[in-house]
Amino acid sequence: MLVNLSNIFTRGETEKQLDLEFDFSNENVSYDAAFEQPVKTRLFLKKGSGETFIELTVQATAQCSCAKCLKLFDKEFSFTQEFIVTPADLTDPDSEIPVNSNNILDVKQLVLQELSLEIPSTMLCKEDCQGLCPKCGRPKEENCGCQLEERVDPRLLILKQLLDNDE
Ligand SMILES: [Zn+2]
Ligand SMILES: [Zn+2]
Repeated sequence: MLVNLSNIFTRGETEKQLDLEFDFSNENVSYDAAFEQPVKTRLFLKKGSGETFIELTVQATAQCSCAKCLKLFDKEFSFTQEFIVTPADLTDPDSEIPVNSNNILDVKQLVLQELSLEIPSTMLCKEDCQGLCPKCGRPKEENCGCQLEERVDPRLLILKQLLDNDE
C-alpha cells in the first residue's frame, strides 16, 4: 500500500483518514508471533507547511508461543505512533519513515516496522508463567506431582541455609 503524500490531500483539504487492513500472514514479522488475522490500521494524515503529520494506529492479534511453557496463546497488539515527514526525510536513506524521494509513503512497510518493534523479545503466556517441569516436561501449573530432589553441594549447603533464613 503506497500513499502519495504530495497528492493525498485534494484541494482545500488538510486532513485525511485512511482505514486499511493488511495481510501479514506471509510476512515474517517475528519468529515468535504469527499474524494470521488481518492487521487493522488507521492512518491519520495532516498537512503542514512542507511537512506531513502522521498518526498511525494499529490493532492486531498474533498467535504466539510462550518462551517458557511453549503453550500457544493469542496476544493483542494495539498502539498509536506519531510521525512527522519532513522534506529532508524524502532524501534521507536513514529516515525512520519509509518514504522515497517522490513523496511516496510505503504504509505496509511502516506498519510492519512499527509492529515488529512492539513485539517483546521474550514472549510469555503470562508474566509469572512457571514453565515446564524438568522431570516430566509438562507445564508446572498442571501440578504433575513430580518430586524434584534438589542436589546441593554440601559445601554450598551452609550458604543455602543462610540464604533461606534470609527470605
Ligand atoms: Zn507459559
Ligand atoms: Zn513433572
